Amino acid sequence: MSEPLFERIALVGLGLIGGSIGHAVKRGNLAKHIAGYARSEETRKRAHEIGFIDSAHETAADAVKDADLVILCVPVGALGPVAAEIEKALKPGAILTDVGSVKMAVIRDVGPHVPEGVHFIPGHPIAGTEQSGPEAGFAELFDNRWCILTPVPGTDREATEQLTAFWQGCGSTVDVMEPRHHDMVLAIVSHLPHIIAYNIVGTANDLETVTESEVIKYSASGFRDFTRLAASDPTMWRDVCLNNREPILEMLARFSEDLSALQRAIRWGDGDALFSLFTRTRDIRRSIIEAGQETPAPNFGRTPDKTGKKD
Ligand code: NAP
Repeated sequence: MSEPLFERIALVGLGLIGGSIGHAVKRGNLAKHIAGYARSEETRKRAHEIGFIDSAHETAADAVKDADLVILCVPVGALGPVAAEIEKALKPGAILTDVGSVKMAVIRDVGPHVPEGVHFIPGHPIAGTEQSGPEAGFAELFDNRWCILTPVPGTDREATEQLTAFWQGCGSTVDVMEPRHHDMVLAIVSHLPHIIAYNIVGTANDLETVTESEVIKYSASGFRDFTRLAASDPTMWRDVCLNNREPILEMLARFSEDLSALQRAIRWGDGDALFSLFTRTRDIRRSIIEAGQETPAPNFGRTPDKTGKKD
């Protein structure tokens, strides 16, 4: 077996993403030691028992001490305070990265706490499920999924290459992107779909003329697929909405305009417009399948186990 890429990795946050990284590191022998920190004693203990960390620490500062690679896997709103907490404990020459779903806000909040000599390279694995917590992680989460790195100008090339090799070792293909562009792209491919799902599930829940039992009974006709997205972690999605406000509002404005056009087509019985839109959107799904980001199997390509991957 080849030498691990890193001597010591620290995972700050041991939920779905931190846990999956831990499992993937073990699977690929990417580090000799994984130190872990989570806010609660319960999560730390569980992560240690499951075995995706080698040592559990009571403070984030203690966990990152001597680590060559530190990965922040906490909700976006917690990244700034966590960075402030570990600032003085980071080892010179270490790589500091995160997995947050937005990037401009992370650079704003974490950037000021990065000491001289530490390489800060923001990142975002485009992989996830609607589950959270230490039990939710699994080694295959990142297989054949993209991981986007958004290094700021002046970032050390060697450090970026090392982090790229790390994510490749976890099964991902790595892309480098400008952070502002990342936030715009993710607003449409991930943030807006989640917001729409939260909204539609909320609307159904508020309807007085349709009973709750009917919503559940007939859910397989379409509603069910929205509920999967709408079951995503409320803390994570609150933080995404609060920290990627401008791009999300821009996409929502476009969405509303297009929805009005669709509404008009339905009102005026414009079958051609409806058929043309529905044909165009079907082609997009075909392209996603061809790109290997989904399987053509019905039921959204999901298997009955917990690996119901989504972004
Ligand atoms: P998760 O399963 O809920 O895990 C979050 C972890 O962060 C837990 O260990 C939690 O500790 C800890 N934590 C929460 N709030 C904290 C705070 N205020 N201070 C310190 N630690 C705190 O969440 P996740 O899905 O892994 O998401 C983590 C990050 O990954 C987020 O930034 C998210 O944007 C990003 N991301 C998520 C997905 C996805 O689909 N889920 C995909 C890509 C990227 P306790 O368990 O002790 O509370």
